[in-house]
Order: sequence, then C-alpha cells, then structure tokens
Amino acid sequence: MLRIAIQTKGRLNEQSTALLHEIGIDIEGAKRKFLSKAANFPIEVLYLRDDDIPQVVENGTATLGIVGLNEVAERGCDVEVVAKLGFGGCRISLAIPKGDEYPGVEYFQGKRIATSYPKILRQFLAENGVQAQIEVITGSVEIAPAAGIADAIFDIVSSGGTLVTNGLKEVERVFESEAVLIANRNLLAEEREVLEELLFRMESERVSRGKKYLLMNIPTAALDEAVKILPAMRSPTVMPLAVEGWCSLHSVVDAADLWDKVRQLKAIGAEGILVLTLDKIIP
Ligand code: ATP
Ligand code: MG
Repeated sequence: MLRIAIQTKGRLNEQSTALLHEIGIDIEGAKRKFLSKAANFPIEVLYLRDDDIPQVVENGTATLGIVGLNEVAERGCDVEVVAKLGFGGCRISLAIPKGDEYPGVEYFQGKRIATSYPKILRQFLAENGVQAQIEVITGSVEIAPAAGIADAIFDIVSSGGTLVTNGLKEVERVFESEAVLIANRNLLAEEREVLEELLFRMESERVSRGKKYLLMNIPTAALDEAVKILPAMRSPTVMPLAVEGWCSLHSVVDAADLWDKVRQLKAIGAEGILVLTLDKIIP
C-alpha cells in the first residue's frame, strides 16, 4: 500500500483530488477522513496542511506527495521531485511601495523584508550580496509595509492584484512555482512500480487534455491535402465509404486549432464533420 499526502483544504486540494480521480484513483468524498483508502488502487490518501507535506514524504510517513514547489524549497526537504503537475502556478516575488524608485537589488540593502519564505529569500539575498533584515510573518504579508512592520515584502504573487490593492509593485521575480509530485528518496521496488503506473496514467491524461476527436467524409481526391492539414499521432485513419470516390477520415486535433482545421477541411470538400470529446489517449 502506497501513501500519498495531499492538501486537506486550500488552493491545491481540489486539483490534487481531481488529478487522482482522472488517473482512476477514487476516494469517496463523503467518507473522507484524515487517511482514506482508494477503492480501486493500492494507494491511500493522507490529508495534511501543505506545510507538512514535504517533511512527511522525506521521512517516509507518506511515499508520495502533491505540494507547491515553493513549499518543497522552503522546507529544504530532501525529496525527489518526480513531475510538474501544471496547476497551482505562482511565483514568489519581492515587492516594494509603488511610489519608490527601484534601482536594482541594492534597493534592499539594510531594508526590512516581511515574508513567509525566509529560506528562499535568504538564499536570494546571499546570492546577490544584499544584507537585509528578514521579518518572518505567516499571514497577510502584503499589509506589512503599510503597517510599518517592514519596508518591502517577499510573497506569493499570481495575478498581482493583491499587490496593487496594497499599494505595492513587484520588482524581482525570484522563484517560479507550481504543484509538483514528490517522492521519498528510498522507494522500495514495488513502490517504484506503482509510481511508474501513476506517472504513465498522468502522462496519458496530459496528452489527452485539450484534444478533440474529429471525423468527416472527404472526397478521395482531396485525401492528400487533408492528411497535410491533420498531422495525427502517426497519421490519420482513413476508411472507405460505400459510396465510390469518398472516404471517412478520423484524427485527433488540439482543441485550440479546431476551428482553423475545420475551415481548411471544409475548403477542400470535407462534409459531415463530427467533433467528439476525447477521454483518453494511451500512448
Ligand atoms: P494550508 O492550510 O494547507 O497550510 P496555505 O494557506 O498554506 O494552506 P494555500 O493558500 O492553500 O496555502 O496555497 C497552497 C499553495 O498554492 C501555495 O503554497 C502555492 O504553491 C500555490 N498557489 C498558487 N497560487 C497561489 C496564490 N495566488 N497565493 C497563494 N498560493 C498560491
Ligand atoms: Mg500552508
């Protein structure tokens, strides 16, 4: 039985649960406890605050974890970052009062900086030869300058709206983060095997995302043109129709390109175009 730690509630919880669901690991919501077994896979889910996830994976209480890369870096835990998960994107940035001129990192020399990420900040300041005082605050870091607790802040930014509301401007993007899958460094062979299976499923989920299945009837004479428009995984599937001179063409396209492809295909005579939602592509 392999144990995976995810956030109990907060920004990563919903997408972590959704990811497990997508790869066929179903935890019954109503029965959710501190520790829940999956119905159909040799895995159990441990619900924790995100702060604690890197540590429990490092010490082996959980084999795997889903957490922001920022937390992994800040805790300084020795775990393997197995995969980036493509959600929970944010950055940790230095921000200063909006009216201040910013000459460069030397701005921070001798300043007080409020943050919940002292370790990452300390490293950045050291790399840049800046001496500053770090004020560790766990919540509402953005109000620190207005409250007179600090001159600047080092905090998570996603849209930047919170900074603007608090009269601040972002001046240094220091750390880029997203949710990652982490693993204990000493996996047993069978745990590694389960992990490989999870990664395989995640990969097929990733390549299927945003894809559409397209089928249409096309004059056989236009087939070469159509194949150029539709570079599928290998090549599009072509099947003859009962009517002479026509065939049925099947392919997978990126949803983002769909309307452009449809326009081009209609222009070369495609008819009866069906667009289907695609569930999975197994590479
Ligand atoms: P917990 O109660 O589990 O300790 P938390 O309050 O520390 O939760 P959340 O605010 O739920 O944490 O954020 C979890 C993670 O989501 C962050 O560590 C970060 O990786 C990511 N994240 C993405 N966008 C943002 C954002 N705009 N603000 C904060 N975190 C974000
Ligand atoms: Mg936290």
